[in-house]
Amino acid sequence: MLDRLRVDPGSPASIAARDPSDRLGLEKPAGERRLAELDERIDELQYRLYAEDRRSVLLILQGLDASGKDGVIRRVFAGVNPIGLEFRSFGVPAGAEVEHDYLWRIHAALPARGRVGVFNRSHYEDVVAVRMRELATEAVWRRRYDHIRAFERMLVDEGTAIVKVFLNVSREEQRARLQERIDDPRKRWKFRRDDLGVHARYDDWVAAWDDAVTETSTDPAPWYVVPADRNWLKALAVAELLCATLERLDPQLPEPETGLEGLRVA
Ligand code: AMP
Ligand code: MG
Repeated sequence: MLDRLRVDPGSPASIAARDPSDRLGLEKPAGERRLAELDERIDELQYRLYAEDRRSVLLILQGLDASGKDGVIRRVFAGVNPIGLEFRSFGVPAGAEVEHDYLWRIHAALPARGRVGVFNRSHYEDVVAVRMRELATEAVWRRRYDHIRAFERMLVDEGTAIVKVFLNVSREEQRARLQERIDDPRKRWKFRRDDLGVHARYDDWVAAWDDAVTETSTDPAPWYVVPADRNWLKALAVAELLCATLERLDPQLPEPETGLEGLRVA
């Protein structure tokens, strides 16, 4: 399942050719059961990662507006001990962030050793949003691909496993979700007029993401394009990816002090 979602380094991401409502051969009830299993397994592995205290995992979630980044976080981490988790959302840079290079706030927010960090948006906004909103010239955003490849390689070399997910929502599903945000008073706070303009340029946004994902899917830090029209499938795929990453790290509990076996606490 995960191989199909992976963007092989050096190959085009071809996001527009991928089906956002793909169910990857699964049915929802089986998917939900599998998600519950994965939750337990992720909880166990992150307990060991935390105890081992040597390495970390960074999950980067990207996607167009209303692709469901928040919902994925809610479902994937519902059963995981929050003590070993670090969450961070990135909005339009402000204050001290503007006074530094674009990777400054990213670097400062990385998970500490032993933690699983989750980025809701990331430095990829600095190539895609910046490009689409014309906040920098092409020469400026394009050279960032190179910075990002090097930056991520450094992080992996130094002990942070990186999983990058692009949530691939269809134009129609994005339309429906934006409409729901307008119609549902409880969700209206999420909507900004600017979202209409972004939706109108759906194809261009996908093309910009395609370029960024193609340029930055590397062996140390590959991208995965996850079908995002079905909430259960997208949570399942992200949980599978995270779990596979933790399994690969195979974190170990530290050796306890010797001679503790049979010791009685008086
Ligand atoms: P939301 O996730 O709905 O709160 O929206 C955050 C907004 O901030 C999105 O429109 C992003 O594209 C935008 N954003 C995040 N990071 C950057 C950045 N580095 N440069 C420009 N816009 C950004
Ligand atoms: Mg938004």
